[in-house]
Amino acid sequence: MAEAPGERPISNESSTERQRGRATSVVVMQLAQLLATEPSSTIKALLARHVDDGRGKCRGCTLPQRGYEPWPCITSAAATIATVSSRLSC
Ligand SMILES: [Zn+2]
Repeated sequence: MAEAPGERPISNESSTERQRGRATSVVVMQLAQLLATEPSSTIKALLARHVDDGRGKCRGCTLPQRGYEPWPCITSAAATIATVSSRLSC
């Protein structure tokens, strides 16, 4: 039975992919902590810029080599967490 390209069972996820996911989570949390110290206007500006373009890509993240990043991007995720955590701490 042929498997569709790009589709992989979750059980076959490699340890490298798991480590990459964990590293991304750490980066998001560290960025969120950093952003939480910024004025809310800065976080709002980031959230306004890093939005879905309607095709699952971030309008704010364009890289010369890779084009648009998938949305939600790291910046959007971190800004969202920073918003929530700053609300909780008030
Ligand atoms: Zn983005």
